[in-house]
Amino acid sequence: MTYADDMAALSDLLRRLSEAFGPSGNEKAVRELVRAEVQDAVDSIQVDAMGNLIAFKAGGVAQAQGSAERRFRVMLAAHMDEVGFMITEINKNGTLSFKAPSVDARMLLAKRLVIGENHVPGIIGAPVPHLQKGDAAGRVVDSDDLFIDIGATDEKGANGKVKVGDFATFATSYTALSDDPAWPTARGKAFDDRAGCAALVALLKGGPYPVDLYGVFTVQEEVGLRGARIAAYRVDPHAAFALEGTICDDLPRPADEDSTPVTRLGDGPAITLMDRSLIAHPGIVRLLQETAEAEGMRVQYKAPGLGGTDSGAIHLVRAGIPATAVAVPCRYIHGPAAILNLNDLSATVRLMDATLRRIGFEHVSR
Ligand SMILES: [Zn+2]
Repeated sequence: MTYADDMAALSDLLRRLSEAFGPSGNEKAVRELVRAEVQDAVDSIQVDAMGNLIAFKAGGVAQAQGSAERRFRVMLAAHMDEVGFMITEINKNGTLSFKAPSVDARMLLAKRLVIGENHVPGIIGAPVPHLQKGDAAGRVVDSDDLFIDIGATDEKGANGKVKVGDFATFATSYTALSDDPAWPTARGKAFDDRAGCAALVALLKGGPYPVDLYGVFTVQEEVGLRGARIAAYRVDPHAAFALEGTICDDLPRPADEDSTPVTRLGDGPAITLMDRSLIAHPGIVRLLQETAEAEGMRVQYKAPGLGGTDSGAIHLVRAGIPATAVAVPCRYIHGPAAILNLNDLSATVRLMDATLRRIGFEHVSR
């Protein structure tokens, strides 16, 4: 278990994954990074038509679990894509119009971006506040009024650098905020879901496990859980877990405000019981609970009813696949920079490592 024990290595892995360019539909840079990381630790790697990377690690205790047909198959899914921007028009004055379907417009003003595979730097511009009159000056700028400025003065200048249909992401470098072993926090972009990708890389480099493990790095989660659906069809697992970076809103709030945070930083892996995409399989939840107890690990439960993950798409494939999600709490997901606690990330690796050693057909019966 190199990564779960070595916080510096885990932080460095997360840094490389976080800084990789991978808006939905453009996951190649992340995929190549993942491939280089895991290829020596797995039995085979496939990339499907949509761009999902499926890494297969055969069960290492074959005798205990029988032949390959009888061995328990587990799919762990982590999505490679991050929220992003698509260039829709190059304007006469050299600015770029864009669409950013999964980003809150209030997050956009004045943010730095990189555009396309060549990482052309840009900034999100808006009408100057001083020149706005009346109501307009106090309102959040409508995202249709925003544009990307790459420093070009006209259409021709911009055209040389970017094209309509190019994608962009926030430009945020990874920073370790604290190396206090009790509270090792880090800041970076795309922790949703490069935190899950880091956990999955660590698990594939660990083992061997008694089960056949399919580590699937999925595409296009942020635009509708798309890659996971076809990957689950191919893998046909007996159980599946989405490894995620999830909502965390644990910041101080007024004392009389009666609301429990969705998750808390530092409280360990967050297990999904129910969200907008699935109700977790009870046997799988029980297995996670028993495993955490046996390992003396703290876990938390994501507040129900919020968001959705790849497990939502996976559990509806074929005749139904027992599934849930296990996530690393991340403050400010879908924004230019999130914050997580590396202890939650390493605990997620340890919990899933122990779960892979216990899981079997008895956990997925009804
Ligand atoms: Zn996610």
